[in-house]
Amino acid sequence: MKNSRKILYKADRISNSENSGWLKNHAVIVSGSIIEDILPISKLPSDLSNNIQSYQLGDIFLLPGIIDAHCHMHCSATSNAQELAYNESDSELIIRAVNNMRKCLLSGTTTVRDLGSKNNIAFVIKQMIDGNNIPGPNLILSGTPITITAGHCWIFGTEADSNDEVIKAVRNQIKIGANVIKIMVTGGMFTPTSNPRKTQYSIEILESVVSEAKRFDIPVAAHTLSAEGVENCVKAKVDHLIHARWYDKNPNKGLDFRKDIVKKMVDQDQWVDPTLGHQLLRKDANVDPINSSASDGKDVIMKSHWAIGKDVPMEEHIEKLSIMDSEGVRFTTGLDMGMAFGDHDKSTANAWSLVEFLGWNNWKAIKASTSDTAEALGLGNKIGRIKKNFTADFAAFSKDPAKEIRNLTNASTVVKSGKVLKINNNILV
Ligand SMILES: [Zn+2]
Repeated sequence: MKNSRKILYKADRISNSENSGWLKNHAVIVSGSIIEDILPISKLPSDLSNNIQSYQLGDIFLLPGIIDAHCHMHCSATSNAQELAYNESDSELIIRAVNNMRKCLLSGTTTVRDLGSKNNIAFVIKQMIDGNNIPGPNLILSGTPITITAGHCWIFGTEADSNDEVIKAVRNQIKIGANVIKIMVTGGMFTPTSNPRKTQYSIEILESVVSEAKRFDIPVAAHTLSAEGVENCVKAKVDHLIHARWYDKNPNKGLDFRKDIVKKMVDQDQWVDPTLGHQLLRKDANVDPINSSASDGKDVIMKSHWAIGKDVPMEEHIEKLSIMDSEGVRFTTGLDMGMAFGDHDKSTANAWSLVEFLGWNNWKAIKASTSDTAEALGLGNKIGRIKKNFTADFAAFSKDPAKEIRNLTNASTVVKSGKVLKINNNILV
């Protein structure tokens, strides 16, 4: 059998298969890239304990690898991320992406979905990671995001306007290996030639994108900031709504939150990436999202978009997301890595934000960052749990994240598909 070398990991605490509590003094037996068994250390067969390579992790908290459903690997996570993405050559963007993916993996994030990279550079990065040439997480890729001419993210997207152009763009992404389609349903905050309060595509076009993606059995993830955008995403049954904000289309009004649409979203099992980890990191950096000044150099994209008019404090968006949460909408953890404040090694801020903004308990937030997001990505029976026959992806933390969620940061040990990349803070790649 290929790559069936066994390794034993012994730890004082290992997350149980439901990600709801600790197993004390257990060992994980890994065969190749797969978890073979989890046993109390006291019950390990003595021949096994003596004959295979064994890591004594000791006083740590071992979790499944963190999963992030929203990354832009070529972006710099600085305020001039868009400017760089626009001006840099593909070689520069690739080098940036290589560094970002290494940093991401070594922080404990073992699976990442990239929702938009310029000129499809993500495919070569994935190829090099999968071939063990460079370190990085397991990747799920959309390639370039689909947007209208001059629309949100046109800087690194594929511009497509008519139904025919959009269908062709979907097929082109599939042809080069996309596992998900990303479409910009409304304008976005950092694209001045777009309008975040307005939809970019008709409902008919959005429906045909979804049915075309379904033909290839791949999901559609849609960026949407307005109530009309959310409504169209629900009507067209996109799989994942990104941001899911509720701006009224009238710039003199605030939000236009609609509970009937939320109920449909729940009935249709649609997932939402609330991108709140990102907002928390911005809050931590002390930058007022609406009225920031130029003092810290991170304000460039924070200034209110010309089309927003009456802006809405973050607390109001959080309140609506909180209602969606209590109505039963399920959340994925996607940081929007690469955008300002969204550093590629900060995916665990997603879990922090669910606790601090939405009042979740710590285990529920840990579950969101692991098994729930695995399920949203269609990988719920392969990753996101320390469980027999699951992929051996681990992230160990030195302090207890079930006690304080911010202890979920900078993993001290990282294992991806059975390969040890960092052990007790020693980096091996
Ligand atoms: Zn994004």
